[in-house]
Amino acid sequence: NKRIFSGMQPTNRLHLGNYLGALRNWVKLQDDGYENIFCVVDLHAITMPYEVDRLAPATREIAAAYIAAGIDPDKCIIYPQSAVAAHSQLMWLLSTMTQMGKLERMTQFKDKAGKNAERAGLGLFAYPVLMAADILAYKATHVPVGEDQKQHLELARDVAATFNTRYGVEFFPQPEPMILGEATRVMSLRDGTKKMSKSDESDYSRINLTDDADAIATKVKKAKTDPEPLPETVDGLKGRAEADNLVTIYAALADTTKAAVLAEFGGKQFSAFKPALSDLAVAKLTPITSRMNDLLAHPDEIDRILKRGADKANTIATPILKETAEIMGFWRT
Ligand code: ATP
Ligand code: MG
Repeated sequence: NKRIFSGMQPTNRLHLGNYLGALRNWVKLQDDGYENIFCVVDLHAITMPYEVDRLAPATREIAAAYIAAGIDPDKCIIYPQSAVAAHSQLMWLLSTMTQMGKLERMTQFKDKAGKNAERAGLGLFAYPVLMAADILAYKATHVPVGEDQKQHLELARDVAATFNTRYGVEFFPQPEPMILGEATRVMSLRDGTKKMSKSDESDYSRINLTDDADAIATKVKKAKTDPEPLPETVDGLKGRAEADNLVTIYAALADTTKAAVLAEFGGKQFSAFKPALSDLAVAKLTPITSRMNDLLAHPDEIDRILKRGADKANTIATPILKETAEIMGFWRT
């Protein structure tokens, strides 16, 4: 049985990286014969400083974004992570078979902890273990994510294998990462060496799914570039991170390749390319934004979807957690 699990943190509004690197692929995959589970990972969102009053509204907004982008709540399970206790319970069990040395090598931890890693919270350090639990609590076989989550997926595969070996069972499947499309790692508009992130302090670093046409145009206009015209070939993008990023975004939004974009814009200046890029982004994102706003006008409807999703998710995860505990030898009646 093929089962997809993936999620986004309600740390802020979703951006183009979340959409092109993950959400759009979920939409494309939902009719391919998988069972689909899309979580709003609110337990992950509290591993960094956050606003208490924004957590629940942001959770609804992420759910609305999933649906607005095309996830069908009648075919897919959509729910908040904190509504299914199995995630945190399984995390504890799995933490006993995760090496600290491996967690120390996680680049997301190093990036988010910053210079003073001694002061980082245990939750931030253990983030990949909770993510392994998210996936394994459903015995998910496929995990569509952006390129930045590849390392965490490898850890989840590792933990699954350790469990199976230590307890002499074939219990957890090895979850396959699905890193798909032309834009698996969208970079910041301000710095071509940093990925576009919800948590970047500069709003000019990203295009949010909720940005209006003016905001998108301004951000694209201000996006960092170099003084050269666009190259004629993909090879010519080497060493030009910002140019590469904008061409990649264009290609992904237009559902084409970088080579095809450069066949059209190669030799042209950014002053010609940028307006075309922002027009394309506006055309692709406005329908999502407007559907999202319609959905957010009825928060009780979103809550109903989340509640129904949580019930279904519990039905799957609770027996798997029980069986895990049984294999590990816990007392039970
Ligand atoms: P935060 O800064 O709070 O970590 P984020 O922007 O990294 O937020 P997440 O909620 O951590 O977003 O990730 C949700 C999904 O979006 C994951 O599958 C992740 O791989 C993907 N993703 C995040 N940023 C990018 C990006 N810049 N390009 C492509 N995919 C991305
Ligand atoms: Mg992230």
